[in-house]
Amino acid sequence: MKTAKITEVFFSLQGEGPYVGTGHVFVRFADCNIKCRYCDTQKQRYKEYDVNALILEVKGLLRKHNSKYLSLTGGEPLLQAEFIFDFLKKARFKKTFVYLETNGILYDNFRMVLGLTDVVSVDIKLPSATKTKAFWPEHREFLKLCKGKKVFAKAVITVSTVNEDIRKLVRLLKEADKTIPLIIQPDSKGISRKLVNKAMRFQEYALQYLPDVRVIPQVHKFLNIR
Ligand code: SF4
Repeated sequence: MKTAKITEVFFSLQGEGPYVGTGHVFVRFADCNIKCRYCDTQKQRYKEYDVNALILEVKGLLRKHNSKYLSLTGGEPLLQAEFIFDFLKKARFKKTFVYLETNGILYDNFRMVLGLTDVVSVDIKLPSATKTKAFWPEHREFLKLCKGKKVFAKAVITVSTVNEDIRKLVRLLKEADKTIPLIIQPDSKGISRKLVNKAMRFQEYALQYLPDVRVIPQVHKFLNIR
């Protein structure tokens, strides 16, 4: 039987994006295909789960906390897309929304689980913040697959984020579907007046082209929860 590397399975409040404050059962998959400078989930220990063990644990937590959201997060969950497909297929969640948090790069793997997810949070990687290479073509392909789905885009910004990246981000969303909400997320490790002002400036710029642009920090960090 297939297994997956999972760092943790837990219940908490969603701390990011438009669903902030809703109670989710999180499954955090280990490993990532990139290495962002601001990442806070690298090098975590993991446990191997098979599909049945994960279903049991997830369903137990959903019941216990009266939750209707299951968040597949990471790392990059789509690195383990085959396992996710088997897991979601077998679990047959009924009144649960499957929420996928992804860096929006592995579009071929996304095809595998596309029909089994309800909400997709696509993290658009701005190279001036991540200090990795740019992934604009991959993000473009990924967003094409999201047509007709509940989706929002998120971009972490740091003090080193440049205007050019924001211009490219806005162009990307305008071309994909300008109704996709954009969440600008100031890097939690570097919250300062300067960074917040920058986020607000980027928001003002983006609102000239996109109807829904919000600045939302990682709320779970303020609450001191996972
Ligand atoms: S994509 Fe996410 S998990 Fe991967 S390195 Fe960047 S912040 Fe970390």
